[in-house]
Amino acid sequence: MQNDIALFSELCDVLFEAETNQPVAKPISTSELYQQLDLSLNNDGIIDNDLKNILKDIIKSTPKTASKSFFNQLFGGRVGKATLGDLLAVLFNNSMYTYKVAGPQVGIEKQVLKNICALADYSSDSDGALAPGGSMSNMMALIMARDYKNESIRAEGLSKKMTLYTSAASHYSISKNAALTGIGRNQVRLIETNSNGKMLTEHLDKIIQKDINDGFEPFFVNATAGTTVLGAFDDIEAISKVCEKHKLWLHVDGAYCGGVIFSEKYKHLIKGLKHSDSFSVNAHKMLGTPLSCSIIVTQNKEQLHHSFSNEADYLYQTDGDDFNLGKTSLQCGRRNDALKFWTLWKSVGTKGLEKIVDKQFEMANIARDYIKEHKDYILYSFNDSISVCFNYKGIPANELCTALYENSELMVGFGKFQENEFVRMVTINTVLEKEDILSFFKTLEAFVSTHMLNLSAS
Ligand SMILES: *Cc1c(COP(=O)(O)O)cnc(C)c1O
Repeated sequence: MQNDIALFSELCDVLFEAETNQPVAKPISTSELYQQLDLSLNNDGIIDNDLKNILKDIIKSTPKTASKSFFNQLFGGRVGKATLGDLLAVLFNNSMYTYKVAGPQVGIEKQVLKNICALADYSSDSDGALAPGGSMSNMMALIMARDYKNESIRAEGLSKKMTLYTSAASHYSISKNAALTGIGRNQVRLIETNSNGKMLTEHLDKIIQKDINDGFEPFFVNATAGTTVLGAFDDIEAISKVCEKHKLWLHVDGAYCGGVIFSEKYKHLIKGLKHSDSFSVNAHKMLGTPLSCSIIVTQNKEQLHHSFSNEADYLYQTDGDDFNLGKTSLQCGRRNDALKFWTLWKSVGTKGLEKIVDKQFEMANIARDYIKEHKDYILYSFNDSISVCFNYKGIPANELCTALYENSELMVGFGKFQENEFVRMVTINTVLEKEDILSFFKTLEAFVSTHMLNLSAS
């Protein structure tokens, strides 16, 4: 093992150097992948030096999500202390289902959950779990809501058409989870949004009422804190009143921007959160923690237990249910996703996490200001969003983003909302500074003027 740690350290240096010198790795086309890299698996093994060289090649061609040129997705950058925690978790290799096997790691996970519950303004009866990602956190919420509505579903399965509500701008996992949980995609009502991507609450109320009149059984509303494309925040307070009126479970999907619970300045965006029944947040998005680290909390601790516990004599042999986390989680064997977030939180404090979140909004403001001041750009996003959406010189966004990637200039994606397709520059990457935002635009402009002017829409 000592040899492998030394090798790991050597490979880290190769990676760090590549992140600086070639921040956007030269992409390999899928048709050439197996010719360019030795990914083969064979009967005979190889010596360490050959393995090292192959790993070096792989490192060079792997996309660099921690580089200053990565704006592509809803995560990015690297925070040392969080990475340290994850590396330790790999070495420990505990499984989080029982206290017997994970010991203090269970206490760490419970502490994270407890603090998230407190920040969400949930009662002392609340609890939660870590799931393999935001999609799965949303699924856990849906299952709890389904079982809460009708206790016998766990044993008998569905007997009625149950309907759920989410905005047209919400994440696709809501519909996918409806399919996975037996609710059915056709029972998902996509509520219209305003031009900023915020759910229209009056529309929500009307559709619920219509479903009740038509004999359906409404049970679940999803509000989004940070929609995936525009980064819009639904009005949780207004939606919670509709849920209260019809007695529906309210889940807040904060996978993208639920991290604002840490910010004095931005937590007003999730005002009313305390009236929700469950809330999820991905620490691997706004909170600088390596993938994946998704947290779901609920006011209804008993429901969490009812929906996810299972008796298993071979597994639960010691300690109370409270410390045997397998009783409240989706999986059986489960990796330790809590330690990396705890290590970061412990080292920088709640105030340090607040700084990480506030910085992302500050970077988005810098980008938006730049766009507003330069007439070749059209801006599609609004204040209080860290997704900065724009078009440049009328160039189709998908062609521009693909050309920037293929020429190893920038990693940035495109999105679509209603009629418009645009570049979606996300300022969530934890290593970004003001000069990196400005350099993004300079790189894009220089690239267009040398390579792409012929693509401008006429
Ligand atoms: C990213 C995202 C998800 C899904 O989270 P994963 O961890 O990728 O599964 C769910 N909802 C929203 C709003 C998201 O932005």
